Amino acid sequence: MRLLLLSDIHSNLEALEASLAAAPAYDRVVNLGDIVGYGGSPNEVIQRSRSLGGIFVRGNHDKAASGLMELTDFNPIAGLAALWTRDQLTPENLDWLRNLPQGPVHMEDLPESQFVHGSPIDEDDYVVTARDALEPLLAFSVPLTFFGHTHLQGGFSANATSNDAFRPPYKTVGQAESTDWQLKPGLHYLINPGSVGQPRDGDWRAAFAIFDSEAQLVSFHRTPYDLKTAQERILAAQLPQRLATRLAAGR
Ligand code: ZN
Repeated sequence: MRLLLLSDIHSNLEALEASLAAAPAYDRVVNLGDIVGYGGSPNEVIQRSRSLGGIFVRGNHDKAASGLMELTDFNPIAGLAALWTRDQLTPENLDWLRNLPQGPVHMEDLPESQFVHGSPIDEDDYVVTARDALEPLLAFSVPLTFFGHTHLQGGFSANATSNDAFRPPYKTVGQAESTDWQLKPGLHYLINPGSVGQPRDGDWRAAFAIFDSEAQLVSFHRTPYDLKTAQERILAAQLPQRLATRLAAGR
């Protein structure tokens, strides 16, 4: 089976459409959460995500925007965007967002995998470093965990005696590009497809990944998108300007 892995779309419709257009063939979509928050197209991105179907996991911004979480842990800009998003959502989309499942989510026909937003130990934890990854990598019998939340594309691997980190090495900054990561038997993996709508690894291109379960191959992708329109929507919504400028920097 080939999974299209999407995470942290953050109401960026232009980045989502570009990712879908650039994605090679897949059987099912897995959406790892933070569908909304920060960007200017919350209803459009929810509609598009719903139409794709597949597996969903809720993110902290989905909880914040749908009133499931206090905004006290959010920085002021994220809090503003969550309140604006809540205001914009249709009652039906708000209800849909509120009912997204909490990770880890499992797939019956892919029992070696689990899907989370932050970490399988706590849905709101950030797995940024190899040290952060070690406990969640070894605490579960399921070898593959797909996660998001950090907006950093790549992954971590470990067994009882060693551990490693992987960041896709890219050659360009403005073109569509992909890098393969071959998974090996006997290791546990944490795999982050990166953020579709607000990358933070210094690369402005939309990020996503394809996982081929037969080949045990993860293909990380980056694709340019209509950044200007995404920024204009943020400014037209009178959301903080920083949310528009950071998209160009990939920060
Ligand atoms: Zn996020």
